[in-house]
Amino acid sequence: MSEKESSCPEWEDVEKKDYRGIWVLGDIHGGRISEASLQMLTPAKELATKLDVDVTGVILGSKISKVAREMFYHGADRSILVDEPSLGTYFPEIYASVMAQLAKRFKPELILIAGTMRCREMAPCIANILRVGITADCTGFDVDSESRDVLQIRPPFGAIMLASIRTPFRRPQIATARPNVFPLPKRDEGKMGKIIRAEVDVPKPRGRLVNSQSLGLGRVLLEKADCIVSAGKGIGGPEGIGLLEELASQLGGVVAGSRKAVDAGWLPADRQIGQTGKTVKPILYIAVGISGSAQHVFGIREAKSVMAINTDSEAPIFKYADYGVVGDYRDIVPALIEEIKRTKLSRPNQLAGMEGMTQRK
Ligand SMILES: Cc1cc2nc3c(=O)[nH]c(=O)nc-3n(C[C@H](O)[C@H](O)[C@H](O)COP(=O)(O)OP(=O)(O)OC[C@H]3O[C@@H](n4cnc5c(N)ncnc54)[C@H](O)[C@@H]3O)c2cc1C
Repeated sequence: MSEKESSCPEWEDVEKKDYRGIWVLGDIHGGRISEASLQMLTPAKELATKLDVDVTGVILGSKISKVAREMFYHGADRSILVDEPSLGTYFPEIYASVMAQLAKRFKPELILIAGTMRCREMAPCIANILRVGITADCTGFDVDSESRDVLQIRPPFGAIMLASIRTPFRRPQIATARPNVFPLPKRDEGKMGKIIRAEVDVPKPRGRLVNSQSLGLGRVLLEKADCIVSAGKGIGGPEGIGLLEELASQLGGVVAGSRKAVDAGWLPADRQIGQTGKTVKPILYIAVGISGSAQHVFGIREAKSVMAINTDSEAPIFKYADYGVVGDYRDIVPALIEEIKRTKLSRPNQLAGMEGMTQRK
């Protein structure tokens, strides 16, 4: 199929060779850049080396000049800054419009965006304005050196193999990756770069912000939790969550769950772990009544240690678990809570060494 045959006739043709460089969009909350955005500089730098181009951090907001430095400290070569009072309130269509204007003007070949809540909303809006594709939730990247196409690697829905997706006809290529999929680059305060202050037309929002409330206040973020106690379908109902919350609170952790537990309405959607939920990296992950599907395990690959409690000794979760307890969670979890209280263990890394559990690997 030729390039002409494959392009949508309504869309302007693009000259791929006019597009150069890699961008990382900074997701900023309360004047701070999210760690997930800085993590995107890791694949950006690797790809930039292969493509022999610069990495640019793009920062949008109000009074955010200082944030550009964090991009440099973590490896960006330059920053494009749009610092406008009218960007003080986040509206996805406004931010997407500004990003699209910048992309049309500066023509990057690739835009990498962290899969945070806001950016997951904004990224497809940017792609839609630019009439380009987007690959969400990538777990790896490579480059086809001949065409310069970026290979956007991700697990396809429901499968264990990996798909390598490319965008052969349109530019820029746009891809997102979940928080914690890529490591944070080493911070070096000696690194600096060039700041480009860009002027753009900030459109008027179609909506009006009446009120805003932070859901995360007072709660440990799942992505940052050292200990996660996770509920699966096997807990049998919402009444089981209270018991897991007690265990989590003894360990200074938080409760999350499998998709089945979320779909059943026992936990809110932002607590789901796995391929279509969150990727986490706790010191200790306790899977309670979770069978261990590939989609669930995908979200806990970075956990330092995994403990599984399950009535079925053949459950796949035991293949991934460092510690396995075969039994009914209604017996095991209260016993565990009592044991923790008795020995006054309060740190998850100490619990991971607890005697009396079967080490599986
Ligand atoms: C495209 C796609 C994306 C998906 N994304 C995700 C995702 O992000 N996250 C996710 O979790 N899933 C995801 N899924 C669903 C996934 O395939 C599984 O269906 C799901 O993970 C199973 O959840 P579970 O382990 O809680 O339930 P089940 O598979 O039903 O397992 C329940 C377990 O509980 C055990 N059990 C029962 N009673 C007890 C008891 N009293 N005490 C202890 N153990 C007990 C059972 O032995 C069993 O092993 C996705 C699926 C698809 C197709």
